[in-house]
Amino acid sequence: MSETETRPAPMTRPIPPPAVSVETKPFWDAAAEGRFLIKRCVACGQAHWYPRTYCPFCDSGETVWEESPGEGVIYTYSVMHRSPSGPYAIGYVTLDEGPAVLTNFVGVAADGLAIGMRVKVQFQPTEGGPPAPVFAPV
Ligand SMILES: [Zn+2]
Repeated sequence: MSETETRPAPMTRPIPPPAVSVETKPFWDAAAEGRFLIKRCVACGQAHWYPRTYCPFCDSGETVWEESPGEGVIYTYSVMHRSPSGPYAIGYVTLDEGPAVLTNFVGVAADGLAIGMRVKVQFQPTEGGPPAPVFAPV
């Protein structure tokens, strides 16, 4: 790339407001404070995503909220080039705690992502709802 060539702009796109339920309200309340919560099962010890009352591994109803640093690596991603708001990327992040999170990537050009890249959660405002978790390179 020559020095006069400009880099593509970092991706961003509007995110519709998430559906908040009684089960997920603690997650969205924490998100509004910039904190990222996951659920962990008391019975089997495994962390899971998305947050839900019953453990997807052992069906126990004994699950607790846990604050996560929201760090992990890109497992896979896909760049959508044809979009009214410009290119954007979605994909899965494998959190350091183990669960895989389907998410949007921000703060990086479309050609700047790579499988295995370290990323960290950020919260992006939504259109009238609580902020949504998105991930950006560390
Ligand atoms: Zn369990």
